[in-house]
Amino acid sequence: MHKVAMSRVDWSALREDFPILRERVNGHPLIYFDNAASSQKPSAVLNVVRSYYEHENANVHRGLHALSARATEHYEKSRHRVADFIGATSADEIVFTRGTTESINLVAQAWGGRFLHAGDVILLTEMEHHSNLVPWQLLSERIGAQLRFVPVHDDGTLALEKLSSLLTPEVKMFAFTHVSNSLGTINPVVDLCQKARGVGAVTLVDAAQSIGHMPLNVQELGCDFLAFSGHKMCAPTGIGVLYARSEILKSIPPWHGGGEMITSVTLEKSSFKQPPHRFEAGTPNIAGAIGLAAAIDYIEGIGRAQIFQHDVDFATYALKRMAEVPGLRVLGTAQERGGVISFVMDAAHPHDLTTFADRYGLALRGGHHCNQPLMRRFGVTGTSRASFYFYNTREEIDRTIDILQKAVGFFK
Ligand code: PLP
Repeated sequence: MHKVAMSRVDWSALREDFPILRERVNGHPLIYFDNAASSQKPSAVLNVVRSYYEHENANVHRGLHALSARATEHYEKSRHRVADFIGATSADEIVFTRGTTESINLVAQAWGGRFLHAGDVILLTEMEHHSNLVPWQLLSERIGAQLRFVPVHDDGTLALEKLSSLLTPEVKMFAFTHVSNSLGTINPVVDLCQKARGVGAVTLVDAAQSIGHMPLNVQELGCDFLAFSGHKMCAPTGIGVLYARSEILKSIPPWHGGGEMITSVTLEKSSFKQPPHRFEAGTPNIAGAIGLAAAIDYIEGIGRAQIFQHDVDFATYALKRMAEVPGLRVLGTAQERGGVISFVMDAAHPHDLTTFADRYGLALRGGHHCNQPLMRRFGVTGTSRASFYFYNTREEIDRTIDILQKAVGFFK
């Protein structure tokens, strides 16, 4: 990726857009380094959600009254906004879900349940979040499919040299993460999708950690499915997206049944709407979808290339400073990496360290990060993880290093 001119973004002014960053925790200014788990929300998003409830709130697609029309229009406009944001060819390729987890379960159960059979192979990687592992385990147990895994090197990159022996014609689905939520590694999605296409496999990209952090276009990536969550990219919780190429989406049978997804129902049988509505049974998260569109406006107002460059510069600075802390070891040293750093310290268990950090207002994450197989691969039960977003500052890194240095003394 090209180096982007950073001068036009006033990062410290952006910080002011996030009311929660003014919080104090245990008497200290909050340092929020748990962005890979969930990002904070700017006023622009909070205001849009509030305004929706104050001026438009009603159920969508059902009512013939003014508020329902307003809510429906805003909800569907948000779908177009998402399509535009990720380069989908049509808003009909965008299914609103609760998040990445639900999106992947939809694909595994509805698409996999219809198109995968005993003996088929589902290829995953050793660095998948449990959300892109457990749904495939459940499916394969049900239908007798097999799971295969691309191993991870010590530096946190995928063992791509093994791909030719793993990505064989029996592979019907290759599902992998864009950016590792523990190691920060950025995987070569374009290349992986191209290779999968070569053997006729369908691809699913877990974009939970990339969507709010870098330019992303589904047509350039060449994927069939893409899943992400709003809450990791400045939007509310409980809203996410499944993108699927139109012809694939049209071929998938309904998943959840209920209101909103049918064209007609008798006591014995129902017929179903076309996608995406076929996959949105029940009242959707209307405010969430509207908040997601507001988050997209906000992020595009900054520029995704600028945000990515900020992540890269920030991680480089953090890694340099972390090297000063005695007994601190970083997991994963990939060249291509985002703003996520996992580390262990001789001084303390990750849980103890994270609890210690909280005393100083520093929000880290300690544990397995829903990556138990990856943790096992690295011979640890868990790590401490610092994950960054564009509103973090270098001064926060400096304060973090002081806290980690204190921990070395404290746990001695
Ligand atoms: N995939 C990755 C790579 C993640 O980092 C996460 C969340 O941490 C998920 C999937 C699951 O996202 P959600 O809990 O929003 O469904």
